[in-house]
Amino acid sequence: MKRLIKYTLISLVAFLMVSCSEDSLSSTSMIKDPQVELNDFDKWILKRYTDVYNIDFKYRMEDIESDMNYNLVPSEYNKSIIMSNMVKYLCLEAYDQATGGTEFIRGYFPKILVLIGSPAYRNNGTMVLGTAEGGRKITLYNINLMNMNDIEQLNDWYFRTIHHEFAHILHQTKPYTTDFKEISAANYVTDSWKDKTDLQALQEGFISRYASSAVDEDFVEVFSFFITSTPEVWNGFITDAGSTGGPIIETKLSIVSSYLRESWEIEITELRDIITDRVDKLDEQDLTSLD
Ligand SMILES: [Zn+2]
Repeated sequence: MKRLIKYTLISLVAFLMVSCSEDSLSSTSMIKDPQVELNDFDKWILKRYTDVYNIDFKYRMEDIESDMNYNLVPSEYNKSIIMSNMVKYLCLEAYDQATGGTEFIRGYFPKILVLIGSPAYRNNGTMVLGTAEGGRKITLYNINLMNMNDIEQLNDWYFRTIHHEFAHILHQTKPYTTDFKEISAANYVTDSWKDKTDLQALQEGFISRYASSAVDEDFVEVFSFFITSTPEVWNGFITDAGSTGGPIIETKLSIVSSYLRESWEIEITELRDIITDRVDKLDEQDLTSLD
């Protein structure tokens, strides 16, 4: 369920230093008094997330309920507002548009989104991009280094993680067909996915390195990569995958596509087009808005 990405050692050291120093400063100061008056952002979350989707959006340090192995810092207020607007525009409303209403997200999307300012690292130096707990909560890390003008980074750090975790809920609710499991059955490598390059993974028929870890990860990675890639970018993956990997990935995509149509009445190319269109119009959105 957890996506891990290798990060450079230099960044690792830098972030650990930052988070350690922050850690010694804060601990209680960010704790929200339950009696405290709601600020404008809290009210906006109630209106735009809780009332519409029955989702809570947590951005304060008190919301970090676990993961005490990590040194974590809070998500900055203004960046949290931008991220909450982006998740709404690029993700939740894209599903609304593809399904014709808010019921799909309201019914199946995790009920809690949590923002953390810093990245989280494991002992082996891999960075945790996002975690999900039992389909109930998605946590996104590294919000304070978000660059809202870099869609590749936004997809890498946040949006593919959200779609990935959401797709786990979907297939746990309605299983996909066994033919998907047979395609790469002999080639899943659990933790050794970290030893591959992106190109090796593609040429073995996996859309990402992490997709080669296990069949459920493979399924949700095909989904999340496809809907966050323009046709040109996707075709680039297929070309790089070559004469062996390319057809394997295409076969996997066709099963994911049929699954979404038959189980959820979603056309995956339509969902991809909706997301692509929204990415193109992201510049026109006021992402600091609390209207
Ligand atoms: Zn997963």
